[in-house]
Amino acid sequence: MQVPTPKFSAKTFEIVRRTKRWSVENYHPYPVSVEDGEGVWLIDIEGNRFLDCLSCYSAVNFGYGHPKIMAAHARTARLPVLPRGAFYNSEVSWVYEELAGICPIPNPRVMPLNSGAEAVERGIKFGRRWGYRKKGIKLGKAIPEIISIVNNFHGRTYGPLSLSSDEDYKEFGPFLPGIKKVPFGNINALKAAITPHTVSVILEPVLGEAGAIVPYEGYLREVRELCTASNVLMFVDEVQTGFCRTGDLFAVNYEGIRPDGMFLGKALGGGVLKVSAVVVRAEVADLIKPGDDGSTFGGSPADAVVARAVFRVVSEERMADKAREMGKYILNGLRSINSSHVKEVRGRGLLIGIELNRSSPPARHFGDKLLLLNVAMKDTHKRVLRVAPPLIISKEEADFLLDRVEHVLTKAY
Ligand code: PLP
Repeated sequence: MQVPTPKFSAKTFEIVRRTKRWSVENYHPYPVSVEDGEGVWLIDIEGNRFLDCLSCYSAVNFGYGHPKIMAAHARTARLPVLPRGAFYNSEVSWVYEELAGICPIPNPRVMPLNSGAEAVERGIKFGRRWGYRKKGIKLGKAIPEIISIVNNFHGRTYGPLSLSSDEDYKEFGPFLPGIKKVPFGNINALKAAITPHTVSVILEPVLGEAGAIVPYEGYLREVRELCTASNVLMFVDEVQTGFCRTGDLFAVNYEGIRPDGMFLGKALGGGVLKVSAVVVRAEVADLIKPGDDGSTFGGSPADAVVARAVFRVVSEERMADKAREMGKYILNGLRSINSSHVKEVRGRGLLIGIELNRSSPPARHFGDKLLLLNVAMKDTHKRVLRVAPPLIISKEEADFLLDRVEHVLTKAY
């Protein structure tokens, strides 16, 4: 596969300069101005091509310019934005039914929203209300407790920040009270943290931002059983893992479990719109009455049209199989690279992390080198390179990727 080596001109430097001059610098992007995408490739303003290993943090699972998603998106240009609080809409009615039909939640109900963090916020609200109304926690007398996981990532608003164990967020506090954090994959720690006031456990089935950390087989089932036995709701954050990223439609499907609620986002919008949802059991959903919650844009007809296209693409194009097969291929390829920098290669489906040794340069250093070899791959938690290309990646493209990764990890950089 021939891809010309990237070249950069004053055009790019000027865009970077203008952006840095006027923006809040809450990110540290690569100095590349991406203007287009095609399949698994990002195309910048200079015409350079980069194999995308980010997929917009798993929002672009089906690649750039997917014809069925593009066609649906084009249809949305003429659709009105409708407040769900005032009107019904046929497309929206279908999206409820179709999403409920594929979620492994018993007797599911759907609330559409706009971002992953918003879905998590609603999960927190549902859990607390359920605690007061169903578990018997006395309002004003006790605090409903929520258990989250050390090193989780659930977003940037106050609910997710309150669930987080990240020390860097400390000075955004104070946070929500009643949150306990336990290590991932430690069922005894979870058991010990549960009290009569615990309303919910919130966890990612695979830790995404923490670097594709997969729990031992049976962990999610044990969490399910423990939650059921303790009368605690199990909420699973599939914002990043959902819609085939880990090689199954949802990551919880690996263990065949049925949570009480799921948070969805990112790929639900096909990589073209910001669509999210919280899906919960009817017994929990029914505790919310008209006026208790809402969102101006959540559940707009445009979101519904694109989300329905996503459901079709996922099933018609066997996206879960693709992610599983190519995930295995790339994981094995990465594991066969003999590099003193690599501590561990892990992951599930196409959510893969390469953890580097403490003595090695930071992951960003290797990301910088990969960029010059036409591969866009970012670091997470400083020591992990995240490999999460669109699920449509071909074998030839995977070989291109493996070849470049081997080069940067085995040369004396
Ligand atoms: N939950 C998980 C597991 C995520 O990975 C993310 C984002 O990376 C979020 C929630 C937050 O989603 P958003 O950025 O759409 O608010």
